[in-house]
Amino acid sequence: MHDHLLAPLDLGFTTLRNRVIMGSMHTGLEDFDLPRLAAYFARRAEGGVGLMITGGFSISPDAPLAPGSAEIISDSDAEKHRVITDAVHAADGKIVIQLLHAGRQAWNPNMVAPSAKKSPIYPFTPRELTPEEVEGEIDNFANAAAKAQKAGYDGIEVMGSEGYLLNQFLTERGNEREDEWGGDFARRMRFPVEVVRRIRAAVGPNFIIVYRLSMLDLVPDGQSFDEVIELAKALEAAGVTIFNTGIGWHEAQIPTIATPVPRGAYTWVTRKVREAVSIPVAASNRINMPDDAERILANGDADLISMARPMLADPDWVNKTAEGRTNEINTCIGCNQACLDNTFNMLLSSCLVNPQACHETELVYLPTMAKKRIAVVGAGPAGLAFSSVAAERGHDVTLFDGASEIGGQFNIAKQVPGKEEFHETIRYFGAMLDKHGVKRQLGQRVSADDLRDFDEVVLATGIVPRALELEGADHAKVVSYLDVLRDHKPVGKRVAIIGAGGIGMDTAEYLSHDHGTPSTSTDIDAFCRFWGIDQTLQARGGVAGVAPENMPSAREIYLLQRKAKKIIGPGKTTGWIHRATLIAKGVNLMPGIQYEKVDDAGLHIRLADGSAKVLDVDQVIICAGQEPQRELQAGLQALGKQPHLIGGADVAAELDAKRAINQGARLAAEI
Ligand code: FAD
Ligand code: NAP
Ligand code: SF4
Repeated sequence: MHDHLLAPLDLGFTTLRNRVIMGSMHTGLEDFDLPRLAAYFARRAEGGVGLMITGGFSISPDAPLAPGSAEIISDSDAEKHRVITDAVHAADGKIVIQLLHAGRQAWNPNMVAPSAKKSPIYPFTPRELTPEEVEGEIDNFANAAAKAQKAGYDGIEVMGSEGYLLNQFLTERGNEREDEWGGDFARRMRFPVEVVRRIRAAVGPNFIIVYRLSMLDLVPDGQSFDEVIELAKALEAAGVTIFNTGIGWHEAQIPTIATPVPRGAYTWVTRKVREAVSIPVAASNRINMPDDAERILANGDADLISMARPMLADPDWVNKTAEGRTNEINTCIGCNQACLDNTFNMLLSSCLVNPQACHETELVYLPTMAKKRIAVVGAGPAGLAFSSVAAERGHDVTLFDGASEIGGQFNIAKQVPGKEEFHETIRYFGAMLDKHGVKRQLGQRVSADDLRDFDEVVLATGIVPRALELEGADHAKVVSYLDVLRDHKPVGKRVAIIGAGGIGMDTAEYLSHDHGTPSTSTDIDAFCRFWGIDQTLQARGGVAGVAPENMPSAREIYLLQRKAKKIIGPGKTTGWIHRATLIAKGVNLMPGIQYEKVDDAGLHIRLADGSAKVLDVDQVIICAGQEPQRELQAGLQALGKQPHLIGGADVAAELDAKRAINQGARLAAEI
């Protein structure tokens, strides 16, 4: 079934056991706890990954993403990394370390770059490197590679994408030099080529050099595709072993990895590079399941598949594939909520669907020594996570839900365009319930009395939507998001949505989509047209001069909130995508609104400037947050039972699936 994916790759001096690369991710562990990082990588090596790439390590004091970021510069740095390479090799894995120079893309007042040009998304203006310093940074790359070799790594990855220093040299966007390092493309590309040449000279022939090549910059003054190919050929000649795909500078305003990006959305670019070079090329970005990975390899788009977040979500991804257990894969849903969002919030990375990720040494599911009969009420994310972990540990678990299927609110969310991956989480938990023998009692709401014989009761009953105190709240025009998304009540051509949190935005997305046409989150051509990506690869950076196709909604939609601040989705790294999508679809985003009443004329509001307005709409949809659903708690307490509360049943404010699953898994690990 997955012959291409599982085939070894002979690199001449070493062999990778399969075609799966775990791409680089900065987890936060790099900066303070290498033994814990070693446990994290060892777990993935045990899971069968062919080659792993660490997060980025700075190659010089000028290079870090932020002051104090981890570096690989000295012999003592190399010594500290031994714990990682030893742990990975003991598990028969291979690992390379990513060498990073952030250039101007850093939170670092002392940053340096080819030219003193500020990045639009970072606060500081870099200092221009002198010609001597340019030479010095190239030597620093070579030195870092030598230290990596000393530390026992199987190779290095040069970070040559996402807009970091090497990209800054390559384009006029970052490089306005007129010396031998700038001016025309031949001189701009000297820096990365020289970096690889000197690394190869420092490490000898039998050491893997992966080069993360920015194949599509997604910024208008990025590289042309002809330049990408010219660079790739020169890098190959300089000694690169494997090209990895990089898509988009961090400065790009096009999504590259989040859920609204279709699976395998960029492999058509990788294919074009692969046709031009003779070394192996890895495809990446939103590849998360074995069938897709196999198809990409079988099509000839790539020689390897690089997946980063999917390995956070499931360290056993490769072994499960090899053993024909793909239905047991815990699929990365591309949400960014616990990985990238955590990183940007200065927190340790983890994974929404797998709270053990980066917590391997601390959140451990040990077999129970005291088997209990446990009732779990509610088969949403919290109840599912609890049930599967508790049963895996050996408890006797019965899972109740009033609905006829498991999933809770994920069954509502999965219908929203861009949230198709939520199907996979429900599928995964279903497989885990079966595997660990959880008894399902679906389609019946339980009473406290039904639960009296259990040793422990866990209430994972979720939430009830918050009701609004508003004149006319009982008018026929007023419906809740459950009426629309769960019960599919008819909705007219003009709607106002009260509440612009995650659910309000998703409701707007759902209603603005023409459900007869391909979704931009599942159809690659529609995605590229919507975001203005040139699939012919004629446009500079893949975007210059390409007008995005707006795809306006057939409905007139008003998305309202009381707060005066900009309406943007909940995710730190994804909110902007939801906002841009809704604007492109013509949704009216209206902050600073006071609600006055609903009547036959529509929704009466007061605008931020104090003026009155009536929105003549067919429906007013309430998405005004949620309250805990705890209807069974008092009855259980009357029976002398003290139920455990998890997920929305515990705290509804700022509830999301990350907290629900984490709380469920942690309670199950202890009970
Ligand atoms: P729920 O998922 O609400 O599950 C509770 C379950 O309990 C339900 O199945 C219910 O039928 C059952 N139940 C209640 N009472 C009883 C009873 N007496 N007897 C039997 N069964 C009972 N979160 C994110 O993190 N990221 C997102 O992108 C995201 N998108 C969302 C989009 C939408 C449209 C919606 C609606 C939600 C979204 N969420 C998202 C929120 C996320 O789904 C919730 O945070 C999560 O489902 C809460 O999990 P839970 O297990 O606490 O409760
Ligand atoms: P939410 O994010 O708390 O948003 C509630 C919205 O209702 C806010 O816009 C709030 O804005 C408004 N509101 C609150 N009380 C109100 C009142 N009394 N009258 C009028 N408006 C009121 O809640 P949610 O949208 O229901 O989402 C529930 C949870 O699921 C959230 O924690 C959310 O993060 C999570 N979720 C996440 C995603 C995701 O993509 N990550 C998607 C969906 C849901 P004002 O107070 O300014 O009016
Ligand atoms: Fe994937 Fe979301 Fe987990 Fe990140 S948090 S690894 S995007 S499922």
